[in-house]
Amino acid sequence: MADTRLYEILGVGPNASDTEIKKSYRKLAKEFHPDKNPNAGDRFKEISFAYEVLSNPEKRELYDKYGEKGLREGAGMGGGGMEDILSHIFGGFGGGMFSGGGFRQRRRRGEDLFHPLKVTLEDLYNGKTTKLQLSKNIICTACKGVGGKAGSVRTCTGCKGRGIKVSIRQIGPGMVQQMQSSCNECGGEGEVINPKDRCKKCQGKKVCKESKILEVHVDKGMNDGQKLTFKGEGDQEPGVEPGDVILVLQQKEHDVFTREGDDLFMTKKLHLAEALCGFHMVVKHLDKRNLIIKYPAGQVIEPGCVRGVVGEGMPFYRRPFDKGNLYIKFEIEFPPSNFIPEDKIELLESLLPTRPKQVQPGEDAEEVDLMDLDPRYHQQRRGNGFEDGSDDENGHGPRVQCAHQ
Ligand SMILES: [Zn+2]
Ligand SMILES: [Zn+2]
Repeated sequence: MADTRLYEILGVGPNASDTEIKKSYRKLAKEFHPDKNPNAGDRFKEISFAYEVLSNPEKRELYDKYGEKGLREGAGMGGGGMEDILSHIFGGFGGGMFSGGGFRQRRRRGEDLFHPLKVTLEDLYNGKTTKLQLSKNIICTACKGVGGKAGSVRTCTGCKGRGIKVSIRQIGPGMVQQMQSSCNECGGEGEVINPKDRCKKCQGKKVCKESKILEVHVDKGMNDGQKLTFKGEGDQEPGVEPGDVILVLQQKEHDVFTREGDDLFMTKKLHLAEALCGFHMVVKHLDKRNLIIKYPAGQVIEPGCVRGVVGEGMPFYRRPFDKGNLYIKFEIEFPPSNFIPEDKIELLESLLPTRPKQVQPGEDAEEVDLMDLDPRYHQQRRGNGFEDGSDDENGHGPRVQCAHQ
């Protein structure tokens, strides 16, 4: 057992049972309570702290093994990390309030640093190497992270190295509130360095800012949201394993292509003549190649249909010679009304497939007018408009269009 100070504060032996600890604490807390003993505030704080630790099996075990240092640094606690322990300590103070904030919470591993990296679809298709400047803390090379000359660093007496101070505030008769705040003597560090012994390079901060260039390889076929991890490139801090720098790819929208997995999609508008009589089109691909797509006369492209080109999608990640497909969705632009002189209509019709036979209505049939009506507009005016926003962007919507009056 490294340290028995907390047991001594409570006046019990290192093997004291929970009941003994509780009993002793009650007695001492009464005796040194600031209500009765306004000058014993510090003593009361110590007693509270000792009880806080020793009454909690996990903390007591930690303390028994590693002493108060262990409580501060969470030494030997696999996985849990310091945040957990601190939150136990802070959360556990009976009725105490965690105020002030800004504690420097000691961790075993530094935080991972996430950083978005904007890339174009071209970058993801072709791959790209880029350099990124990173500003980070590194352990001071002059003092090797000590902060000053050897032996100049001593534990803060104001907080006994804990970095926090507990103060007692009376909030009513017989009621006190424990306030915790960052120690003002050491700035929450738990240790102090004489100004004259302080490291000149880091001013005792133990770390210095350094800018570092990261070379980032965006591989062919990588995805939006994919993470690139640079192990241990996070901020350095003495006694703490640095976290990673993690770049998260963010693909900018492309003017022509959208991506779904390894496939590319695009939309192409065709004129009616092209849809009926064949066409050819040129697609500028993401690697600047021009793809010529020919569609023979006699083949019809119907509105909204999708055709595909095998192997012109995105390269597979880590298998860049294999590629997905390119899909093209066709929108057909119909000619406007009266695009053809009336006397040619018959000629046009003679070239089109024969129209279906008219159904002969009965005698009582009524003739009505077909008009250009927008159902959304008229329903909204009646107060029951479409709310779902399902639009007719593709021209299949419920729009009533009429070619002939
Ligand atoms: Zn230094
Ligand atoms: Zn201090």
